Formats: sequence, C-alpha cells, structure tokens
Amino acid sequence: MEPDIERATVLIVGAGPTGLVLALWLTRLGVPVRIIDRAQEPGTTSRALAIQARTLELYQQIGIAADAVAGGVKVPALNLWASGRPRARVRIDAIGQGLSPFAFALVYPQDAHEKMLIDHLERAGVRVERGTELVHLDARTGGPRATLRTKTGEEIFEASYVAGCDGASSTVRRQLGIEFPGGTYQGYFYVADVHASGALANGELHVDIEDVDFLLVFPLKGAGNLRLVGLVHESEKPDHAVTFDDVKSRAVDRMHLAGVSVNWFSTYRVHHRVAQRFRVGRAFLLGDAAHVHSPVGGQGMNTGIGDAINLAWKLAAVLKGEAGAAILDTYEPERIAFARRLVETTDRGFTLVTRQGGIARVVRRQLVPVIAPVVFRLPAMRRLLFRTVSQINVSYHDSVLSEGDTGEIRAGDRLPWIKTNGSDNFAPLVSLRWQVHVYGRTRDELKEACSALGIELHEFDVCKADLTHLGDGRHGSHPRRLQVHSFSEALEWHRTKPATSSRTCRRGSRPRLTRSESTL
Ligand SMILES: Cc1cc2nc3c(=O)[nH]c(=O)nc-3n(C[C@H](O)[C@H](O)[C@H](O)COP(=O)(O)OP(=O)(O)OC[C@H]3O[C@@H](n4cnc5c(N)ncnc54)[C@H](O)[C@@H]3O)c2cc1C
Repeated sequence: MEPDIERATVLIVGAGPTGLVLALWLTRLGVPVRIIDRAQEPGTTSRALAIQARTLELYQQIGIAADAVAGGVKVPALNLWASGRPRARVRIDAIGQGLSPFAFALVYPQDAHEKMLIDHLERAGVRVERGTELVHLDARTGGPRATLRTKTGEEIFEASYVAGCDGASSTVRRQLGIEFPGGTYQGYFYVADVHASGALANGELHVDIEDVDFLLVFPLKGAGNLRLVGLVHESEKPDHAVTFDDVKSRAVDRMHLAGVSVNWFSTYRVHHRVAQRFRVGRAFLLGDAAHVHSPVGGQGMNTGIGDAINLAWKLAAVLKGEAGAAILDTYEPERIAFARRLVETTDRGFTLVTRQGGIARVVRRQLVPVIAPVVFRLPAMRRLLFRTVSQINVSYHDSVLSEGDTGEIRAGDRLPWIKTNGSDNFAPLVSLRWQVHVYGRTRDELKEACSALGIELHEFDVCKADLTHLGDGRHGSHPRRLQVHSFSEALEWHRTKPATSSRTCRRGSRPRLTRSESTL
C-alpha cells in the first residue's frame, strides 16, 4: 500500500542553517514539512563563515551551489604572520584540484547564507513559521506530540517525526532528557566585522598565532570588508562587557589595520559538547543541538548541514515506502561518531594554538612560519588538508549500511569525483533518485535489473575519465592500476546496500570484471 505522504509532516524545530537545509532537502524529495522558529526574524549577523566543499557538493544536488558560490568570496591565499609582519604566503585557490568540483575555500557569511536558503525554500512553497516556539515535546510514545506557542496561542501538533535543529540550548534535547556532556573553554571568542584598510584588507586570509591566542582575518564581500576572529583570555577580560576597543591592538597596532569602522562586534563562549544520543523514538537532534565545538577549522555549521542531509534522505525513504524504518537507526551511529571525532580534533587544534609556555611560543613564533609553507606546498599534504577540512573524507565504514570494498575505495566513502568528457560523475546526482553507477561497461543482467526496478543506471567510461586522483595518488604519476568501485549513489546512499560491481581497469587494457553485480 502507498504510504499516506500527506499525513507524514515532519516538524522541524529551528530555522538556522541545519533546519533550513533539512526543510529544503525533504521538500525536494516530496516530504511535507512544517518549519518553525521562535525568533521573529532570520539572523542578521554573519557568524559562521566557511562553507566546505562537501557542503557545496551536496548543495549542487539540490541546485543551490551556484548561488552560494556567487554570494561568497573565494579565498586565494593564506598568510601567516609573526612579529608584526607576514612571514609566509600560501596559495589555496585550487587546493582541492582534482578532488572536488569545489576545490577552493569559500567564505559566505551565515546571514546571507540563511537568506539564500530561505529564498529557495519559499520558491519551493515552504515558509518558516516565525514567532512559533516549541515548549513541550512528548516523543516517547507513538507519534511525537509537540506543544507550540504561536502568535495566537498554544497549539498541539502531531508530526510523523520531529527534528530538533534548535541550536546549542535546544529545547528538544532537554525535552527528550538527553545529556549534553563536555566542557567550556576558558575565555571568550570575539568576532568583529569591520571595514578597514591596510595589508590585511587584500582579499586574503591572515592568521596570526604567535601568542597564546590567535587572530584570524577573513575577507568578506566588498573591498575593505573583513571579519576578525580572536580570543579574549579570562585573565584579560575587562570588568565591563568586552568591546572592539579592548581587543583591537593586535590587528591595529601589530598588523597595521587602518581606518577601522566596526559593523558588528560580538563575543561568545565556546563549548565542546556532544549529545549523548541523537535520537529518541521519532525525534532527532541535529546541528548545534547535537554537537558544539570551537570554530577552529570552520566545521560546525557544515557538520549540522551534513546531519540534515544524512537524516533527510533516510526520512524521505521511510515516509515514501522505499525503505523500512530500521534505516533511521543508522542516523545516530553515523553522525555521532563523526561529531565525537570532530570535537576531539577541533579541541586538539584549539589547545595547540592557545597553549601557554615558552616552548609553545617558540614553536608558534619560530617554527610554524618556516615549516607551514613547506608543508602547504607538498602536494600530498595539501590534498590531506583539503580532504580533512573540506569534509570530503567523512565516511561511514562502520555503518551497517556499508558493505564491501574495492581497491582504495570502501563502501561508506564519499563517491570520488571523476571528470568525464564534458561532464562528471556527480552530474546525475541532481535527480535525487536512487541510481546505479557503473565505471566500465555494464553487464546485461544489471541493465535488466535496473530497468525492472525503475532505477537509473549511469555508465562512465573510466578509461577516458580523468582518474589520476583515484590511483596511488603520488604527485605527477598516473595510476598504474585503477580499481573503481561502481556502486549506487543517489544522495549519499552509497552506504545503503547497493547494486555493487567492481572492475579492475589497467591502462591500455580492457576493463576486467572482478566481481559480479550480484547484490541488487
Ligand atoms: C556570535 C557567533 C559567532 C559564530 N561564529 C562562528 C564561526 O566563526 N564559525 C563557525 O563555524 N561557527 C560560528 N558560530 C556558530 C554557528 O553560528 C552555529 O554552528 C550554527 O548557527 C549552527 O546552526 P544550527 O542551525 O544548528 O543552529 P542555530 O543557528 O543556533 O539555529 C537554531 C534556531 O532554532 C531556533 N530555536 C531555538 N529554540 C527554539 C524553540 N524552542 N522553538 C523554535 N525555535 C527555536 C533559534 O531561534 C534559531 O533560529 C558562531 C555563533 C555565534 C553565536
């Protein structure tokens, strides 16, 4: 029997980037949503800036990547400062070349980003219900019942599922009785959006980490527009609310920033916490409601967006009768494992740049400016750095949905990006439909099976494709042997049990089938 999709409304609590992307993705997949936010207006401050390549790859699938790229600023280079002068400059404009169609670092302020998401959502016919707050949630028995405080009074709403995208002090998390263990860093972050001139205003990224704190300077759209991010130690905190005047000396005196006018200044405490569970019954936690950590590395918002897409395709599959409800059990283990790793690594990064003591200072002041540019110029290191920061390395090898491997590629990996003549293997993903990819030549049985099941089949001629990045990865070398896992990939569903085939392709030889397409 067809599931009654009209009665399957998913309630999304919170219209930050996480909730908005969840709403967009579900809407594109034909799932009705109700998205509420207690705030009367969308956010108007820039907050998270970095949009990682993996987020853009996923945005490409729902047709919004071009708008994000057009709205943001591509950062051409990173400059390391020490003792008041730039000590090293590294180009990062094509740091992920060959690894992703989005091989650059993109800065796109959160307010503009959210506005772009809202515009797309409205074009898809969904409006965020503002001034509507979730005050109570009962998700332990049957369908979740949410008590909403709206502009006109209280309302009980029964949803098929509830997504708690309501930020770090999540009401959904508290209502579900989920602990949020972790800690709080000493001191405050400050963020300042300024207009200024000087060497820092050259459209590039500047990093100064020689003392026991750091200053990051990001270019924003428009000449002279910059974002400064730094740290105020507890011991340096004035007895009044911190202002830009209290923190400006590093940028202004030491890094020669001139003519500064401040457009926005804010401080915030940073926590490192991961919720003990990401799900209770039919209610889920996503984004900052599930995990918070230091902004070092620009991962937070992107991780929330990753949560949203991971959950969206699974909810849609269940609500449309394409998968059993058990598939939802994979959301928590897949995303909680990544969130825990992320909190650990950002914690280590944060400790590294803020550690006190003479040795740490020598390392930051003397060694880092010398070693970092060398490391950045090594192709293998650039690739590793890009893979890690861009989140294209996020994988779900341990998920129960992941099965099989071939060559260097394991089920649960992100589908490697491959350029073909005039196109690439990501192009078919925009259909958001289940699909089978074959790298090599398709066997007739697979064609027949896909046709019978109504599944898209895409064949890529791997010998003509640019596959250099799939081989042994050494700079300048062509792979001696390519092993290409041709697995099904619709959204991120390479971790479902796909129709799997694996071919070994030697240069100059015909593809040889090494394993049959047997698991469809
Ligand atoms: C000042 C500041 C600077 C930051 N700078 C950076 C940075 O440089 N880099 C970085 O990576 N991250 C930064 N962040 C963090 C980043 O903004 C978050 O990671 C991101 O916003 C998380 O998105 P989200 O959608 O999960 O949650 P949020 O953006 O917090 O959205 C949650 C939404 O839920 C709504 N809500 C809450 N409770 C309810 C309820 N009961 N009912 C209905 N609606 C509710 C809220 O109004 C809000 O709109 C910064 C944050 C702040 C505050």
